[in-house]
Amino acid sequence: MSYVIEGSSGPWEVVIGLEVHAQVISQAKLFSGAATEFGAPPNSQVSFVDAGFPGMLPVINRACVAQAVRTGLGLAAEINLTSRFDRKNYFYADLPQGYQISQFAHPIVGKGVITIALADGSTREIGVTRLHLEQDAGKSLHDQHPSKSYIDLNRAGVALMEIVSEPDLRTPEEAGAYLRKLRSILRYLGTCDGNMEEGSMRADVNVSVRKAGEAFRTRCEVKNVNSIRFVMQAIEAEAKRQVGIWEGGGIVEQETRLYDPGRGETRSMRSKEDAHDYRYFPDPDLLPLVLEQAWVDELAAGLPELPDAKQARFIAEYALPAYDAGVLVAEQATADFFETVARGRDARLAANWVTGDFFAAMNRTGRSIENPPVSAADLGALIDLISDNTINGRIAKEVFEAMVETGQPPGAIVEAKGLRQVTDAGAIDAAVAAVLAGNADKVAEYRSGRDKLFGFFVGQVMKAMAGKGNPALVNEALKKALAVG
Ligand code: ADP
Ligand code: MG
Repeated sequence: MSYVIEGSSGPWEVVIGLEVHAQVISQAKLFSGAATEFGAPPNSQVSFVDAGFPGMLPVINRACVAQAVRTGLGLAAEINLTSRFDRKNYFYADLPQGYQISQFAHPIVGKGVITIALADGSTREIGVTRLHLEQDAGKSLHDQHPSKSYIDLNRAGVALMEIVSEPDLRTPEEAGAYLRKLRSILRYLGTCDGNMEEGSMRADVNVSVRKAGEAFRTRCEVKNVNSIRFVMQAIEAEAKRQVGIWEGGGIVEQETRLYDPGRGETRSMRSKEDAHDYRYFPDPDLLPLVLEQAWVDELAAGLPELPDAKQARFIAEYALPAYDAGVLVAEQATADFFETVARGRDARLAANWVTGDFFAAMNRTGRSIENPPVSAADLGALIDLISDNTINGRIAKEVFEAMVETGQPPGAIVEAKGLRQVTDAGAIDAAVAAVLAGNADKVAEYRSGRDKLFGFFVGQVMKAMAGKGNPALVNEALKKALAVG
């Protein structure tokens, strides 16, 4: 935790709390039967409830409640068997009801925890304060007409989970790690797709600064930041702004701000509203939400293996370093791909191939783990060819590239190109003898003590053998030949 903002008065610590809005994956909205599919034509998925028609009554969607409970369980959080919906009153053009149905005093999920891993290998537990269910608003479209704004109500009434963290985060890196980990858990659970570009996951970033050991100072909230990178940038920009105010003798006012990625600065949007501004009161159209423990237990029993548990298993079962295991479990599909490759094989070799050449090929070709540049079966077959000494590691890279290019299985490529490893002692000795004969000066240098030249000889022999020599046998033959003299 060495991250500080250096001011003229010395270092300042940064305090960060995140409020994440995560759109629930469900067929229908939180209180209506309208569909939720992303990208549908404007206003094609709007019921009378969503449009705020008078007299329409909300009916809670059990599937959305189950998703919130499953998310709470995935965050190791308390599940509140009784929760309640309130009306949060405000006027907004894309909020036709004139209020948002949300949970204020009694959320469905209480305190939980998210464990984050940092670049230095350490981990930290970040407190989750609560998770509550609420409706999303519609969308105002300002770019469809030169002088008018249009409103699309497709999103109005879609279920959101607001997940609030404790002010436990201290650095932009930690905030980024928190969001990545939360997104990973949500995706494993299938409760939110975590797509920040499409807005199905959005973060409000609360930032304050203080001197070490002080109580928390006033925070500002940077609203609706839509990428992890921008969250990290917004924290730094906002913290610097606040340090400037305090050191200039001013006072940071609590307010809501926006981050402008183009200018790399935050700017004021409105002064911060307080709870009483919203005139919260229990929604008279909805009964308190009461869950049975047995139903919660059933949902708990149906949860998938989550990233932390999977990472611990990968470390124990496959003897992987924590970092590699962490990379492999970040996405469930990647973890599954790795396990298919590793099954019955050298797991560390499999992990190296997946996180190394395979990831690189995926990036380079723009393919995804769902549509990989090389199938798990073919990558496994390639590793088999290394393990049974059919090819050496260097040639394997060449074969892999050919697999990416042609889509052919490794065995066929090795045969077609004649890439089998040479283990024949006669062939290796001949190559060694030729290289030593052609480099008499270097041989003399080596023998008078320049050990470092050994690598040069290995390279030359391999080159003479078109890369196909068995590395262990080549080393052995070279050592023997160079020792004589
Ligand atoms: P509100 O609903 O008004 O936004 P909350 O109490 O729900 O207020 O807090 C919102 C977020 O602000 C939480 O994530 C919390 O961790 C964070 N937070 C609270 N105090 C501070 C502070 N002094 N500095 C930074 N973040 C803070
Ligand atoms: Mg807030």
